[in-house]
Amino acid sequence: MGCTAADVARALRAVAGVVAEHREELVRLDREIGDGDHGENLNRGFAALLSKLDGDLPSTPGAVLKLAATTLISTVGGAAGPLYGTAFLRAATSVGDAAELDGTLVATALQAALEGVVARGKAVVGDKTMVDALTPAVAAAESVASTGADVAGVLTAAAEAAEQGAESTVPLVARKGRASYLGERSAGHLDPGARSTSLLLRSFAGGAR
Ligand code: ADP
Ligand code: MG
Ligand code: MG
Repeated sequence: MGCTAADVARALRAVAGVVAEHREELVRLDREIGDGDHGENLNRGFAALLSKLDGDLPSTPGAVLKLAATTLISTVGGAAGPLYGTAFLRAATSVGDAAELDGTLVATALQAALEGVVARGKAVVGDKTMVDALTPAVAAAESVASTGADVAGVLTAAAEAAEQGAESTVPLVARKGRASYLGERSAGHLDPGARSTSLLLRSFAGGAR
């Protein structure tokens, strides 16, 4: 059984709830090595998305993902807004006008999202950014999708890998974004964007059940 536009909308509502719950945590992380707005930025975007999801829903998963993209691009701001916006836009494009998503399409969408983030932000693994969470997530998603995992299975594998990827940012010295201004002093802190990526994937996985 695939994942319809309504399923994607439900998953996005779950994501919005988790972002709201973790707003202060993300603010605290960003205060340590950035300017302290990451939780506010994301929460503003997902709150705006929540109200749009209350209106008439687009009819395909891709169109719902595109609504998320345009909403995040116009509301989140900072570095993360264009990055997450591009991620959702590329994911939307990659699934085209499919009526339902299966595990393979979700893995492809995650790969497209990562490519979008990298095209936009030029970060590589080890730069202490959301790329450090998303890259292993994509690898895990593709690996389980190739064995026939369903949407929930693919997202759960992605979320687990993203959590480990986010934790791996703690000892790193940031080479992209505001945290890079701190140089060596950025080491010893969890990257807020890597943390939010792992939260997004975890809540997507929960919402896809
Ligand atoms: P800002 O730094 O503009 O205040 P946010 O606080 O919302 O924006 O987002 C910061 C997060 O964005 C960082 O923790 C990092 O994960 C991510 N980020 C910043 N620059 C890049 C980049 N070039 N590539 C990928 N991710 C990045
Ligand atoms: Mg910030
Ligand atoms: Mg900022």
